[in-house]
Amino acid sequence: MADDFYVVLAGGVGAAKFIEGLVNLVPPELLKIIVNTGDDIELFGLKICPDLDIITYTLANVVDKEKGWGFFDETFNCLSILKKFYNYGWFNLGDKDLAIHLYRTDLLNQGFTKAQATKKISEKLGVLSEIIPMCNESVETYIKTPSETIHFEEYFIKYQCQPEILGVEFKGIENAKPIERVLKFIKKAKRIIICPSNPIVSIGTIVQVPRMKEALVKEKNKIYAISPIIQGTTVKGPADKLLGSLGFNVSSFGVAKYYQDFLGHFIIDNKDRNLKSKIEKLGIKTYCFDTLMTNLEKKRKLAQFVINLK
Ligand code: GDP
Repeated sequence: MADDFYVVLAGGVGAAKFIEGLVNLVPPELLKIIVNTGDDIELFGLKICPDLDIITYTLANVVDKEKGWGFFDETFNCLSILKKFYNYGWFNLGDKDLAIHLYRTDLLNQGFTKAQATKKISEKLGVLSEIIPMCNESVETYIKTPSETIHFEEYFIKYQCQPEILGVEFKGIENAKPIERVLKFIKKAKRIIICPSNPIVSIGTIVQVPRMKEALVKEKNKIYAISPIIQGTTVKGPADKLLGSLGFNVSSFGVAKYYQDFLGHFIIDNKDRNLKSKIEKLGIKTYCFDTLMTNLEKKRKLAQFVINLK
């Protein structure tokens, strides 16, 4: 196996923005993208894998770029009828998106694993990178709030991240196993890049799959992460709230602390320059760059900066 490839740890929207820049610089065949599946949910009898789909649609160039998820030029006819029968109308599913969930569910029912189904879907959509779920087993992220414990997607979409967070639980994580070739990829990769994704419920979930953290710790010196927090706030989503609720400083420093055991290099935003020396005291080489990816050029420049670092 040539070891000129990159391993990329990814969540959904934040990761997809960075990966869009990266595939402009690195041949897509050289990317092995390990994706969080803690957000996976079963609705309408269908297996839905939001982060796998965001990454797949982005690389297949069919994603709705404005929203960052789902297909572009989408219609919602099926959902308008499904809403008559179910209470899950809060989960937006377009007609094209539903076709993917139907196909995936069919494959899983036939006995294919999640990794095999992911491969089939991404190949049929013309994706050249390898997209790999963090595990085949079911892991579901739950958020403990003062009134109830709810699925992450419910917290995120239905309740718009409003409830106070008392804790996070990855149900089923103890039975999860990394896809065997992923451990080999981690060992052999030229560089491992941790996308600017939610540190707790995207990257944290992947890292907590048994044996993953140990594999990463051994390769610490080639691991590069981009902070998803700029000036103490998230660009989108509840990463800041989650960090705070778990007792971490709500800043790039807090993310660095969370990643400390396995992170060798950290790219923080220019606006957080004042945190550089504090993060370096954790034993993490720290670099500053403009990390706000508002257009393709900025995504490309950030990716270029990360892959050029020595
Ligand atoms: P999700 O699963 O769809 O929420 O997506 P991810 O976990 O991949 O990403 C969510 C994280 O991406 C949030 O914490 C955001 O702050 C971060 N993010 C989104 N866009 C940007 C950006 O342009 N720059 C940086 N640095 N972080 C970003």
